[in-house]
Amino acid sequence: MDTLFHFLFTLIALYAARVHINHHHLAPFAFAFIATLPDMDHFFGMVPRCTFHNVFVTVLIPLLLILLAFKFERYGTFWKKSMILLLLVLTGHVVLDFFTGNSVMFIYPVNEQAINLQGFAYWVTIDGRQYPVVSPDSVGILIYCFILAGAFFLDELVDIQDRTHRGLGYAMSRLVEQVKSWLREP
Ligand SMILES: [Zn+2]
Repeated sequence: MDTLFHFLFTLIALYAARVHINHHHLAPFAFAFIATLPDMDHFFGMVPRCTFHNVFVTVLIPLLLILLAFKFERYGTFWKKSMILLLLVLTGHVVLDFFTGNSVMFIYPVNEQAINLQGFAYWVTIDGRQYPVVSPDSVGILIYCFILAGAFFLDELVDIQDRTHRGLGYAMSRLVEQVKSWLREP
């Protein structure tokens, strides 16, 4: 997906997840901008969809930052929430790119194998003409929406951890119980 789309769609998704209500309006804009940063590897002689699109930059480093924030941020929740949003927007970026445009070298520099899921499409042919039912773009956007929906539960997750001073795993299990009780409500 193109860089402007990453900005616009992340902005819309974060507003839809109510990130602006519990935080400043600056938060959705800041993280929509951060969502575009992997595309910096299109410039300065770097390898496009490779240098900043790999699993280390988009998944493992944000996960490490989340663990560090949960371990060391004793008072307040700013870094915990920010690092979770960082993981969501960067993972969302690379998932969208799997389904659109050129291939992504996801495990670079370990391996230069390229991932491209653009064949993920379903068309019907009527009178020799093809009509799309499912396109790679829409599948990518669907998965992206599921990932960014995590932002909707951000405050509940971090506030549970902040209240109980227990680990991230405990907060996630409590959140799952909370979501189950919401679903049972009439
Ligand atoms: Zn990209």
